[in-house]
Amino acid sequence: MNKEIVVSGIRSTGKLHLGNYYGAVKNFVQMQNDFNCFFFIADLHSLTTHPTPGDLHGHVKHVLVEYLAAGIDPENTTIYVQSDVPEVAELYLYLNMNAYMGELERSTSFKDKVRANPDNVNAGLLTYPVLMAADILMHKAIKVPVGKDQEQHLEMARTFGNRFNRLYNADYFPEPYAFSFTENLVKVPGLDGKGKMGKSEGESNAVYLSDSPEVIRKKVSRAVTDGGPTSEFQEKPEAIQNLFDLMKIVSTPDTLEHFNDLYNKMAIRYGDFKKQLAEDMILATAPIRDRIQEISADDAYLRQVAKHGALKARESAQKTIREVRELIGIKSF
Ligand code: AMP
Repeated sequence: MNKEIVVSGIRSTGKLHLGNYYGAVKNFVQMQNDFNCFFFIADLHSLTTHPTPGDLHGHVKHVLVEYLAAGIDPENTTIYVQSDVPEVAELYLYLNMNAYMGELERSTSFKDKVRANPDNVNAGLLTYPVLMAADILMHKAIKVPVGKDQEQHLEMARTFGNRFNRLYNADYFPEPYAFSFTENLVKVPGLDGKGKMGKSEGESNAVYLSDSPEVIRKKVSRAVTDGGPTSEFQEKPEAIQNLFDLMKIVSTPDTLEHFNDLYNKMAIRYGDFKKQLAEDMILATAPIRDRIQEISADDAYLRQVAKHGALKARESAQKTIREVRELIGIKSF
């Protein structure tokens, strides 16, 4: 039986944090036995914001090591580096021909990036969703395990695929949808009291899979809180709700309920609450952290995984590019 195709990737801009893990990688691990999975390391995407040559390979290595440490099995899935598959750049070019400026400019992530980096509003940032669509459509994926922040990009991937199909009068690209095993797509909040956990939101906002227990304790102890609840059963302000949301992800339901009750009774002590949260984060990441050290030291293994993955990914990509060229009408003499 043909298994449904799954594609997802993570930008190689540094180490993976809990947002990447719970939003994406944990689903990768859970999906690998039941689907035909392609998981890549988005080093081309990283160039939109992280163009320093000296950092590039190290960042790719971090993501590859952490994929493997999290439990992705390269025998069962196709793990590859985006730039090892040049066909991606070709499909990106074709899709760019029918992606409109207006729709790209309206993308929330583009607007966020412009706000964060007003001095480097490059065309790669604008067409980021087109490159992402090329990654996904390349293997004709149906399911794309991603966090909540990527929902709009998936909608754009469907738009570009459908537009291509209409333009060339072919039922070629299937529609890809964002996927999560949880009821809703995951949004992991950060420790700074506002918004999501992310690499660009500052070092202390994110907890990385490779952070030592001491670092995790320190980061969580410094997380933003307030003076405490002033009435029973009051609505939690964002910074506090974020910490409870993190606890919901890493702790047991009983622990969550215990601290929720204390909050509602105005008896919560944030010091105890944060201590528990930090210990549960340490527990949740411990097995991955240990494997990161081990795998990172084995360059021969990493080389072999990347090479094997690139071969498999290119086989699928070359087939798509052959068919796409034919649909577009590109022929060689
Ligand atoms: P990025 O680091 O932007 O390349 O994101 C890689 C993957 O991690 C995507 O699937 C994102 O949706 C997911 N991700 C990143 N940050 C978060 C977060 N704070 N909560 C949930 N998912 C996240």
